[in-house]
Amino acid sequence: MADYKTKILIIGSGPAGYTAGIYAARAGLKPLLVSGNQPGGQLTMTTSIENFPGFKDPQDGTMLMETMKEQALALGVEMINDRITSVDTSKRPFICESENNNRYEADSIIIATGSSARWLGLESEEKFRGFGISACATCDGFFYRNKDVAVIGGGNTAIEDALYLTNFAKHVTVIHRRDELRADKASQQRLFANEKVSVMWDSVVSEFIGTDQPKSLTGLKIKNVKTGELSDLTVDGVFIAVGHHPNTEVFKDKLELSEDGYIQCKPDSCETNIKGIYAAGDVRNGNWRQAVVAAGSGCVAALEAEKFLSSNEK
Ligand code: FAD
Ligand code: NAP
Repeated sequence: MADYKTKILIIGSGPAGYTAGIYAARAGLKPLLVSGNQPGGQLTMTTSIENFPGFKDPQDGTMLMETMKEQALALGVEMINDRITSVDTSKRPFICESENNNRYEADSIIIATGSSARWLGLESEEKFRGFGISACATCDGFFYRNKDVAVIGGGNTAIEDALYLTNFAKHVTVIHRRDELRADKASQQRLFANEKVSVMWDSVVSEFIGTDQPKSLTGLKIKNVKTGELSDLTVDGVFIAVGHHPNTEVFKDKLELSEDGYIQCKPDSCETNIKGIYAAGDVRNGNWRQAVVAAGSGCVAALEAEKFLSSNEK
């Protein structure tokens, strides 16, 4: 339990948070960064990043984020392993409280809490989560050596997960609710070329099936959304990759959020509806959920916060 005072509190340790830290530290603001339960953010869940500039070869996500962290530390960002649980945005300095009962007093805040995996919301999914159902292929794929698995979703994450799983699994079935994928074309081509993968189009999971003793998933009941036809698929594991929701529970009723929970920022800016509070990365409204975009907005947020703090001092 401790009391911290800082000019600039950065909440989150993904590409947005670390980049904000790098810029704020270089501006002499001595930022304090609270890393949350997923140090390094979402990229730590992938082993192959090909589109972050500066690297000729595919990068491991955990390594990339470790390098970003080291850069931020070297420039003087103070980092604390903690999770913010409440925030008072009604007056300055802003006050945040945390899981470890710490109190953070900040003249400005950059929120970079990113997003988390979405689930399908079926009762049977709840039952077998952790017993054959996962949302992290890079974490759990290894357990499915020579087994049959399925991936739900048609975005980049689903395709990357499916391709990654072919390293272990006997066969991977991608189950997608439409007749075309959302993922980028390069990933699609790789998927279609892989003979360990098949795609079930226009299909959704209506139930997860398994045994109680031991608790274990054994298959899926699948519904064709065009014909209504039901079928069974035997699988040992299933990976849910149906997108993400923003980590904004803490900021509900404290900041302006969009209908789907993203933090609303002013056009071409990271400023929220509260002066001195900025949002960067996947947590803010915007179309592109990419690491380089998150890093870019972390930079913008830090520059805007610096301007705000210096005009306040004057
Ligand atoms: P995140 O990376 O989500 O980080 C959020 C941070 O906030 C975490 O450190 C978390 O611990 C912290 N946090 C959350 N709540 C709190 C709290 N209450 N208190 C304190 N801290 C908190 N993009 C690409 O450009 N290329 C890719 O190849 C690519 N591959 C991907 C593969 C996968 C499997 C996934 C899921 C995403 C991928 N993305 C990729 C998207 C990319 O990961 C995100 O766009 C990017 O990580 C967003 O960065 P961020 O900093 O906004 O948030
Ligand atoms: P996404 O792009 O939102 O895709 C989610 C997928 O799940 C969509 O295909 C969607 O179907 C499907 N879906 C959503 N709800 C569903 C439900 N209830 N039942 C069945 N299917 C459902 O999410 P993502 O793939 O996690 O990607 C998130 C962001 O990270 C994207 O911007 C993506 O580009 C980025 N990312 C990039 C890379 C990369 O650049 N290599 C890798 C991973 C992620 P519909 O298509 O019908 O909507």
